[in-house]
Amino acid sequence: MKITKKLIENVISEVVGVDVIPIINYLKDKKNISEFKIAETLKLEVNRTRNMLYRLHGANLVSFIRKKDKLKGWYIYYWTFNHTRVKGLAIEIKKKKIEMAKERLERENGGHFFLCDDKCIRLDFEQAIGFDFKCPECGMLMNQQNNEEIIKSLKAEIKKNEKELKTFKS
Ligand SMILES: [Zn+2]
Repeated sequence: MKITKKLIENVISEVVGVDVIPIINYLKDKKNISEFKIAETLKLEVNRTRNMLYRLHGANLVSFIRKKDKLKGWYIYYWTFNHTRVKGLAIEIKKKKIEMAKERLERENGGHFFLCDDKCIRLDFEQAIGFDFKCPECGMLMNQQNNEEIIKSLKAEIKKNEKELKTFKS
């Protein structure tokens, strides 16, 4: 798997949040950058920068070393982006997506679903009985939905993601 800029941004925004992407883009080709330098360069408040770095650290996407400032007596943290972690997270995300799609596929295969003509809301059989097969939004009669297309697209999605997962691991 190639660790592209796009892959890094996708993984980071999914795991930590889209707001921390500027920090990663800044740290990407550097090592041991102080949080003050990061805050200053990105024009962020130091506290906000720290909060973002801690979140990244929580996902093991950055590491730090700390050094005591001899004059002021406090510790300064120096941060480095952990490139190798991106691949592991990308694999985890993909696996989770496959798992969720498989669970959904099981539900679609095993259940009957009901809709009114306006498709206000989709109910399973138990729920539809509870409303006497009348749409709780508009009151129209609900009919059983043909979910073949949903099943087909879920199967295609699973296949595509499993194929991608294989390339991730190689
Ligand atoms: Zn309706």
